Amino acid sequence: MNVLVTGGTGYIGSHTTVELINRGYTPILVDNLSNSREEVIQAIEKITGKGVTFFNIDLCNRSELKKFFEVYKIEATIHFAAFKAVGESVDFPLKYYRNNIQSLVNLLDLYNEFGLDNFVFSSSCSVYGQNDEQPVSESTPLGKAESPYAFTKQIGEKILSDSIRAYKFKGCSLRYFNPAGSHESALIGEYPLQAPTNLVPVITQTAIGKRKKMQVFGSDYNTPDGTCVRDYIHVMDIASAHVDAITRMAGGKVNQDMEIFNLGTGQGNTVLEVIKTFEKVTGQKLSYEMSPRRPGDVEKVYADTGLANSLLGWKALRNLEDIVKTAWDWEKKLSEANKSIA
Ligand code: UDP
Repeated sequence: MNVLVTGGTGYIGSHTTVELINRGYTPILVDNLSNSREEVIQAIEKITGKGVTFFNIDLCNRSELKKFFEVYKIEATIHFAAFKAVGESVDFPLKYYRNNIQSLVNLLDLYNEFGLDNFVFSSSCSVYGQNDEQPVSESTPLGKAESPYAFTKQIGEKILSDSIRAYKFKGCSLRYFNPAGSHESALIGEYPLQAPTNLVPVITQTAIGKRKKMQVFGSDYNTPDGTCVRDYIHVMDIASAHVDAITRMAGGKVNQDMEIFNLGTGQGNTVLEVIKTFEKVTGQKLSYEMSPRRPGDVEKVYADTGLANSLLGWKALRNLEDIVKTAWDWEKKLSEANKSIA
């Protein structure tokens, strides 16, 4: 079964590609390499022992994309390709609205034109905004989007659900909590061109010496130690949920409008707990300081995962220790590779 993976050379896209291949699907990767590197493909091939098909296409270019659909018979799509830096989206909102919305509209438009089926949308727990009730479930009302990035995910879900209803195909939205960690081989991991702003890569970059010191944003939140609470989930668990979603749709088990699933562990951890876990698991001492709150951050969010557990038959298998260990293995690997290139 041919599965189009947009953003296939990116962080979650590359890990999901490995999982698709391992479970007998044929991924076809499309990416414009705006925040990823082509060498990821060789790493995926090394892990899986299979060749990977890749096209450098910008999804905002409808005619290029149309040519692709004319050639390849696509039986499902996982749409990862999007900009995802919350802070950048506040500074450059139109960059985010143009790219994240235009690409989705083009894809869905061509889905309709070519009569295609089975569409998975990358969404985010940021659609819940700041919510007093925790954990959040899929039926929790959406909160105010705290950033243009979060708003592109809210609008994206609406665009997809309206399209599914009008054009009659199957689709679902997967709301990721905080994906982190790397494939156990340390051959792929988070490898963006831009400097990462997410907590786990900031921690590993600080420990390896790429950054002198890291900041903990906010210590006066209403949480056990005053720092924000998030639900950190291993990227390979996120990857397997995508394959479960495709399998569910292709098996014809979906008989309603767009389905939505939270992808988290159900467990919330503070920033300081993540730092302490990293120090314990790796034996590295981290240099960090407490700083003011970061604009756009919500105080706490973690998942009720009951729906994904029961309908997808999916459950996160890895814990926070696995996350920091694999993230650290990957950071060390990157640093060795850079040394050998230098
Ligand atoms: N965070 C931090 N220092 C950093 C990066 C992140 O204290 O250098 C905190 C951030 O304020 C938030 C948590 O770590 O409370 C997770 O942030 P991240 O950017 O990884 O994900 P988000 O939940 O914002 O999508």
